[in-house]
Formats: sequence, structure tokens, C-alpha cells
Amino acid sequence: MHSPQMPPHPHQELLEKMSPEEKTNASQQLTFDRQHIWHPYTSMHNPLPVYPVKSADGVRITLQDGRELIDGMSSWWAAIHGYNHPVLNAALNEQASKVAHVMFGGLTHEPAIELCRLLVELTPTGLDRVFLCDSGSVSVEVALKMALQYQQARGLKEKKRFLTVHGGYHGDTLHAMSVCDPITGMHTVFSGALPEQFFAPRPQCRFGKRDKDWQQDDIVSMNTLLAEHHEEIAAVILEPIVQGAGGMWFYHPQYLRELRKLCDCYDVLLIFDEIATGFGRTGKLFAAEHAGVSPDICCLGKALTGGYMTLAATLCSDQVAQIISHAPPGLFMHGPTFMGNPLACAVAVASINLLLQSNWQNKIADIEQQLRCELEPAQNADSVADVRVLGAIGVLEMSSPVDMASLQKFFLDQGVWIRPFSKLIYLMPPYTISSEDLSRLTGALLKAADLST
Ligand code: PMP
Repeated sequence: MHSPQMPPHPHQELLEKMSPEEKTNASQQLTFDRQHIWHPYTSMHNPLPVYPVKSADGVRITLQDGRELIDGMSSWWAAIHGYNHPVLNAALNEQASKVAHVMFGGLTHEPAIELCRLLVELTPTGLDRVFLCDSGSVSVEVALKMALQYQQARGLKEKKRFLTVHGGYHGDTLHAMSVCDPITGMHTVFSGALPEQFFAPRPQCRFGKRDKDWQQDDIVSMNTLLAEHHEEIAAVILEPIVQGAGGMWFYHPQYLRELRKLCDCYDVLLIFDEIATGFGRTGKLFAAEHAGVSPDICCLGKALTGGYMTLAATLCSDQVAQIISHAPPGLFMHGPTFMGNPLACAVAVASINLLLQSNWQNKIADIEQQLRCELEPAQNADSVADVRVLGAIGVLEMSSPVDMASLQKFFLDQGVWIRPFSKLIYLMPPYTISSEDLSRLTGALLKAADLST
């Protein structure tokens, strides 16, 4: 086996805590991992350390060496009920004993029907048709394809570009990347290969400002772009209220109300990407509810299965579905192999019911209040440019980009799992977190900002 020259092993500290046999095993595994496995956004030349996980339960992740970490990330915002949940485990096991997977072409099953029934019932009004897909990025691809097929079906063939706002993030596949922020997204790396889209400035007016403080100027550029280019634009796509991986920015709901009017006026579809915001994270079941606005197409993912399996969904209005279905080829042109996987659908049904049966609104309100109260002192630190809290999301925006590798190690030493990016150190804990554990997370953030008292 060819092994390239690798830099020194970064896991010395972890290996020192193990028995000789465990040590050999762990060392071999980590060496293989380092040499052969690509982790998200990493180099194969000089990969950052990865920490082997033995198990996870509730809000705690246990590493192979026995260290326990309080989870502040919900595994990229998905594990809203925490790990190893008995209800979700039972749903998975029960479904596995019936049927783990069947193709969705020509066949259907109860978990998919039950899931789609819940999604139609719970999502904003008018989103009545559901397309199940594999991941968040794919659900964005599906949404964009729906918009393109819809406009084609109406004979509006020039409407094949998209309009979005700066600071967005919609996924890593090619068309999804094209509507990510051009700077923090990957437009430079893939320059020339991505479809070129229209970008309005990021909404400026902050969430939490009173309605009378809404600044109408905020929507002017969007209006201008639509006025000038609506004949080329199939849809506007954006994350409602919370821009996540593109900058953790929370903006005023009036922006969405104004945008809905503009989209109707210029005959352009409106797509909401609720992949990060869906299922309670912002204090509403879906972020669109803060504005009381329904999109024509909506993407869901991440917390859909409570973080158990990959699954996403793209919902659309009856009008979008009917127009696509009544023009040649009379079909929506997408159909992944693992579409509607019964295991994933069964866990999603269990996760949504678990959420609905919990006292989630109060829980999120408590988390929000505690995050506000405990992160507020960071406002005074020179290293911190801004502190933002909404629902179960707490963000410190630092004055300059953080050193992720060293901060990651610092957090491990504090017994917490927090993974910052760019200038942002943030928390998105499972909703089941206790106030003591949440304080451990906020305490670690304050320490990281050099604020501990
Ligand atoms: N849209 C948004 C708003 C997201 O936050 C993400 C993931 N961070 C995606 C799309 C892509 O989802 P996935 O990683 O499941 O492809």
C-alpha cells in the first residue's frame, strides 16, 4: 500500500491514555484515517486532527480515550433530541425488522406516507406536494430544478437564472454552490464552472428590531434586480430569518414580507431554504412563521431525522406541481436511488412526533434566555465584534478569523464539542440540554473570548 509522507501524528495525547492493545489498534485506525479518508473540507496533505468517537448519549459525546464532551453543535444542527434516544432507536429497529429499503419508483410505504402527511400539515400554508431526497444540497438542487421546469412549462424559457442574497449558504453541489455567497462560498475555486446568478446585498435590518424600525431601503436592491432582470429569473432563493453557514446572521422578518410581494409582482418563484432553521431551532417550527410568509418551494433537511440519518425534502405548492406535470415531459425529472428510504422516513416520523409532544417552545425560549444572559458579557471584549442570539442559536462574531485547530483543542480541554469557523464561534445545542450543561458551553465560549472571570 502506498503511503505518502505524513506529518507527525497529532493524537499523541489521546493515545497515551490507553492500554497497549487499545493504543496499537487506535493508532492503526487513526493512521489509516489520516492517510486515506477525506473529512469535510480537509487536505489530504496536512489534515487537521480528527477525534475518534466511541459512543454518544444524550448531549454527551464520548471519545475513544474516555473523555466526555458536552455537545454544542447537535452534529451540524441536526441532533435536536441528543444522541442514542430510545424512541428514535426503537423506530429505527422496528422499521429495520420490516423493510430497510425498497426503491421508490413504482412502490410506496407507510413511513414515507406518514412523514409526508406530517410535513404537509406542519409546514407553512400551501406547501402540499413533497419530494423526498437524500441530503440538504440535493434538496436545493431539486428546488432549483423545480423552478426551472416550472418556468419552462409555462413557455418562459429565458427564466433560467436565480436571484439570492449575499451571505447565504445552500450546499456543496454545483448549482447549490452557485447561489452560496460568492466570497465565503467556493466561487473562486470553481470559477467559470458555476452558473452565474444575481446577488442582492445581505439584508441589513436585524432580527429583533421593532416593525416600526424596519428600513425599507433594505429591499431596494432586490427590487432593482427584479425590475431589471425578472425576465431571466426563475426564482429567488434564500434562508429565511437566519443565514447559517454563510455568516450566522439574523435579519428582520419584514424583508421576507416585502420579498414575497416583489416575487408575486415580477412573476418569480420564492424558495425558502429551511434546512438549518426547520424544526424549532429559531423558536418557531419553521423560520418563515416569524414573517407569516409562505414560499412556493421549501427545502428541509438536517433536523428532519433528529440527526439519525441523511434525509431531506423539497415541498412545493400545488400550482408548481400541476404546471410541471401538465407540460412535456409531464414528469418532474429527478429520482434518486435511495429516495424515501423507509428507515430514514420512520426515524423522521418518530423525531417529529417526539418534538411535537415535547414542550419545545418553552425549552427553546429557556435556551434563548440563558444564551442571551450568559453570552452578553462577551459584548465588552475587544476580540468580539458582535453577539447574536435567536432561539437555540448563540453566536460570537470575533473581530478576526479564529484559528480553528487550536480553538478545537482548547474546547476539548474544556470538555465541550464546539466547532467554530471563519470569525464565528457559535452554539446550536440539542434542545434537550440542561441549563448546567448549557452553562458549561457558554462558559467555554467566554473563556475562548478571553473573558472568563
Ligand atoms: N442549506 C443550508 C441552509 C444549510 O445550512 C446546509 C448545510 N449546512 C445545506 C443547505 C446543505 O445541506 P447538506 O450538508 O445536508 O447537503
